[in-house]
Amino acid sequence: MKIHPLALGTLHMTEEMLYGQGGSPDKVIDAPTWAVLIETENALVLVDCGCQQQPQVDPAAEHIYSFRPEELLTAQLARFGHTPEDVTHLVLTHSHVDHAGNTFLFKKAGIYIDAAEYAGALQDKAAYLAGQRPGAPLQHLTRWDDSLHFRPVEAPRTQLLPGITLVRFPRGHAYGFLAVVISGKPGNLILASDLAYTPDAMTKRPPTLVTDPAGYLRGIDLLRDLAEEFPGEIWYGHCPEQFAAIRDTTLEY
Ligand SMILES: [Zn+2]
Repeated sequence: MKIHPLALGTLHMTEEMLYGQGGSPDKVIDAPTWAVLIETENALVLVDCGCQQQPQVDPAAEHIYSFRPEELLTAQLARFGHTPEDVTHLVLTHSHVDHAGNTFLFKKAGIYIDAAEYAGALQDKAAYLAGQRPGAPLQHLTRWDDSLHFRPVEAPRTQLLPGITLVRFPRGHAYGFLAVVISGKPGNLILASDLAYTPDAMTKRPPTLVTDPAGYLRGIDLLRDLAEEFPGEIWYGHCPEQFAAIRDTTLEY
């Protein structure tokens, strides 16, 4: 299989959001938002799908994210000759707008999401529609309807395809979470997504915006355990330095 990181634009996060308490709440850092495309012989897997794409960013979300035309998800898939209809498996690490914003495009794919996160997202959607939780970050959930094929993941570990395993994590950054482990030659790769925004998160303070701070720290411990079990590389959720180094690479397994 071939693994391609897809650059999907820029999140405008404060230093405090990205690196945790003690960071400046005013200083804005541009962090990458991105996805991972996995081409296998018989399947096309996408892990996360970026912020909701529109011809232009929704004005209500402009302060949260931005992207250039070539960073549209459809443009990034087209680089490899694919359209959203070609994707057979969409894995959502969680339901947040910068990871699940374009879910509505994938009407043919099986959509894999942690079962607790799925239930929480549906509650968020209901709260948004009732006007209780207004604002751009939940708007994308209104497009989660019966035309999509959700496959809530309940087992602690699920082999999605040979060499690709979904690992459930408890409530922490979100209501629940899926990490993806890719194993085989040339080595193990853990797609940690927002279990840890940056390598710093493995040893330092928690970010401020998490559903459950104690659960988040427990998730860091579990991620360390997973990294011991599958030694190799970890790709972090929003690390500017790491993403700059991997964004134009292709890994071959
Ligand atoms: Zn994120």
